[in-house]
Amino acid sequence: MVWKGGKSTVVRAMLATAFTILIVSTPCGVAYAGVLTMGERGVWETYSSPSVRTFPHVVLITLDGASKLWVDRLIVNNTLPTLASLKAEGVELAVRIVDHQTVTDAGLACIESGYGPGITGVDQNYFASTTKKSVPDGLTTGERIKETYPTWKVGLVMPWTQGRVNVTSSVDSTLWNQKGETDYWFASENVTWSLSDPDVRRNSLDFFSALLTAGFVSSKVAEFISANKGDSFYIRAHFVEPDHAGHANSEAVSGRITPEYREALVACDRALKTIVDALEDAGIYDDTVILVTTDHGFFQGSHSGSPYPFGEDDVTTVWLVSNRAEVRNPLGWILQNDISPTCLALAGADPDSFTPAYSQTSHALAAWVPNETLREVTPPSIASVNYPSQTSVGESLSLTVTVTDASGVYSVILMYNYSTVGWRGLTLTKLNGTAFSGSVGPFNQEFTVYWYVKAVDGSISGNVAYYPADAKPVATPVRGAVPYWTLLPVAALVVAAVGSLLYLRRRKFGARRTGLEGHASPA
Ligand SMILES: [Zn+2]
Repeated sequence: MVWKGGKSTVVRAMLATAFTILIVSTPCGVAYAGVLTMGERGVWETYSSPSVRTFPHVVLITLDGASKLWVDRLIVNNTLPTLASLKAEGVELAVRIVDHQTVTDAGLACIESGYGPGITGVDQNYFASTTKKSVPDGLTTGERIKETYPTWKVGLVMPWTQGRVNVTSSVDSTLWNQKGETDYWFASENVTWSLSDPDVRRNSLDFFSALLTAGFVSSKVAEFISANKGDSFYIRAHFVEPDHAGHANSEAVSGRITPEYREALVACDRALKTIVDALEDAGIYDDTVILVTTDHGFFQGSHSGSPYPFGEDDVTTVWLVSNRAEVRNPLGWILQNDISPTCLALAGADPDSFTPAYSQTSHALAAWVPNETLREVTPPSIASVNYPSQTSVGESLSLTVTVTDASGVYSVILMYNYSTVGWRGLTLTKLNGTAFSGSVGPFNQEFTVYWYVKAVDGSISGNVAYYPADAKPVATPVRGAVPYWTLLPVAALVVAAVGSLLYLRRRKFGARRTGLEGHASPA
């Protein structure tokens, strides 16, 4: 409670109180919420299952830290013509990161194995750590393709070091265990890292971190394609530019993409063109499925945080573009865990034949839908939200939300924003089977509190429902208020003042009338 005396404060408080009394507190708002339609982040589409086709050539490219927001916008305005053309030919899906922190190593481990940190152990970045973690032997797409088809060629091209080089101590070993099954392995350690080497001078994105440009990485992929066009193959490559630019310059400032982040995405798109051209030159493009995706998004210059649906949407919901409509699915979105089993299915391998089973986490893509019922996609049902239409200075905003879901309710979060606080989340406390409650405040001054409720179910999909259904925030005013007892003397003074005024006016008026009457009277 903040209550300060002083003339102007008292007057303001009186006015505010009068206003409050005038409009009187209305009863609690009770409202019924619908189900969020997720738009580009995952919408149910009219869907007819395409015949599953397999491909002798599978190409998987990741753009490090390329956010869906900016990739989508630059596809629409044709700043990324290669991605635009792949998407026009095939499909774009939203990708949810659901079981790991949104960092590179955990993302690459998930993309390449289909498993979360519970199985891979890769739960964070290990570039700079003295401990190095790798996806356990045998679990990656490349290893499983090699296990299924010994004659397939497997390639991996990475922009940073998988082994120590002389200029950096940052070494990443996430995919190290697949080296034995990889026919073509090109990474930063294959370059001299001597400044006198023209290859290094031309192709290093960051000399002291031993990072190679997307252009150089793609030229190595093109060499692999040309050399192996007569064989079936799986080639995997990673471009680092967007993450590098995002950390150095942020992805956007005041809602506009930074020139550096934009150029990074453009460089990746040009590199993709090099790979598409190599496939066409080799005469195998029509038998190739290309998948392009990212390890995590970007938001306000960073990306580390909780997974979907708890972290920032621009970080936790990413994208996948493929040149083949076969990769469409009925949901419009997949989990990052689906990418590896889908690559296997596209190559003709049966994801169900591998252990540990993917069954609980990976079956969204049309290429592999062994058990649709395991993926529950129904959002929670928000039956009611009880909240006051306004609150007062010195008081809190309290809500009670009733939520049900067949998979159980994982959490109900009140997202709120007032003054200069910025958006924050408050996990509501479970009262009984379906009711959750919590409060924000008490507030120390008048302003408007903006809020919405986010309910997350207990399924692996992390289905979300919002109140209001479109997540457009509710505005709840905090009115000025003073303790009633401080108003008693003020009210008494007002009554006394008004009373005195009326009394004086009546006396004065009465006297004048008497006077006039006197003049009017004839003598
Ligand atoms: Zn990354």
